[in-house]
Amino acid sequence: MENKLRVGVIGATGYVGQRFISLLDGHPWFECVALCASPRSAGKTYEEACEGRWKIDVPMPEYVKKMIVYGTDDIEEYCKQVDFTFCAVDMKKDEIRALEEKIAKLETPVISNNSAHRWTEDVPMIIPEINADHASLIDAQRKRLGTSRGFIAVKPNCSIQSYVPALTPLLGFGIKKISVCTYQAISGAGKTFESWPEMVGNLIPYIGGEEEKSEKEPLKVWGKFAGDHIELASEPVISAQCYRVAVQEGHTAAVSVEFDKKPSADEMIKAWNEYEGEAQKLALPSAPKKFLRYLEEDNRPQPKLDAMYENGMGVTIARLREDNIFDYKFACLSHNTLRGAAGGGMLSAELLTAKGYLTAKQ
Ligand code: NAP
Repeated sequence: MENKLRVGVIGATGYVGQRFISLLDGHPWFECVALCASPRSAGKTYEEACEGRWKIDVPMPEYVKKMIVYGTDDIEEYCKQVDFTFCAVDMKKDEIRALEEKIAKLETPVISNNSAHRWTEDVPMIIPEINADHASLIDAQRKRLGTSRGFIAVKPNCSIQSYVPALTPLLGFGIKKISVCTYQAISGAGKTFESWPEMVGNLIPYIGGEEEKSEKEPLKVWGKFAGDHIELASEPVISAQCYRVAVQEGHTAAVSVEFDKKPSADEMIKAWNEYEGEAQKLALPSAPKKFLRYLEEDNRPQPKLDAMYENGMGVTIARLREDNIFDYKFACLSHNTLRGAAGGGMLSAELLTAKGYLTAKQ
C-alpha cells in the first residue's frame, strides 16, 4: 500500500486498546495517529494515562508514548485526525451505541469490539475467514445513516472465536446440535492476576450475558446476506455454559456436536486442516497462514502452549473422540485478546480495506 491509512484507537488505555497499539506498531497498511479514552485520560500523554496499568505481555511501543490522548467528549476533533477508528471501550451499552453511531455519522468508519451494535440489522458481524460476504451490508447501512463513507462493523464475542471457526468447515455435514462449555481467561474481563487476585487458583461459573451471546451470535455469523439484513441460520441449536478460569490469555471450549450426516473422524480432521477463508485467499497482512490446526496430542490444546499459535490468530483443535450422547466431542482454543479482540478487529479492517470500504479521507 503506497500511503498508509490513518487510524485511531478509542479505548486506547484498556486491555484491548493496548493490543491494538502493539499490533499497529509497524503495520504495513495502517498508521496509528490518534488515541482516545475516557475524559479521565484526556490531555495526558499515553505513557502518563497508562501509568501502572500497562497490562499486556509486550512492551509499550515507542511511537505511542508521547501521543496526547483525546477524551470521548472531544470526539469531533479526534475524528478529524483519522481515516477510520477501532473502538473497544468499557461504557454502558446505550452510550456505546450512541457514540459509535455519532462517529459513523462524522464520516469515520468504526471497527468495533463492543457488543452494542452486534444486533443492529445492517451492521456486519465479521470473522473474515467465515462470513466476509456480510461486508456488503455496509451499503445498506450507509443509506440508513445518510453517510458516504461512515459505517460500523463489529466482531463477535471472544467466547465464540474458537468453536465457531472449528465448526464452520463441518457445516456441510448438517450440524444439528451443539453443546459447548467455554473456559475463559481473565484478560477477557480486561484483568490481570494483579488487578483480580481473587481469580488466583479460582473458577467462577458465571460471566454476565456470555451464555446468551455464545448461543445467539453464531447464528448471525453463519447467516445469509439478504441485502439490508442477515437472515439468521435456523440451525444448529446451541447450548452454552461459560466459565471464568485462572488463565491469563486464551479461551478454551469443550464442544459436543451432533450431525445429520455423521462424518468420520478422519473427514473432520481433513476438513479442519484444509480449511481456508477469504483472509487466506487475499493474503491479508494479519491472516494466519493456516487458520485451523488439529493437534494429535491428548493433552492439547493448552493456553500456555497454543494460544499464540499463528501469532495468536489461529485456532487449535484436539481430543476428537466419539461421544455417548452426541456424535463427537473435541476441545478447541483461541487467543481472546488477539484473535478474539484486537487481532480479529485488525483482520476485519484489512478485509474491509481490500474490499474498498476503508479508504483515505479526501
Ligand atoms: P478495559 O481494559 O477495562 O478498558 C476500557 C477502556 O474503556 C479504557 O480505555 C477506558 O479509558 C475506556 N473507557 C471507560 N469509560 C469510558 C468513557 N466513559 N468514555 C470513554 N472511554 C471510556 O476493557 P477491555 O477488556 O479492553 O474491553 C473493552 C471492550 O472490548 C469491551 O466492550 C469488551 O467487552 C470488549 N472485548 C474485550 C475482549 C477481551 O478479551 N478483553 C474481547 C472482546 C471484546 P480510561 O483508561 O480513560 O478509563
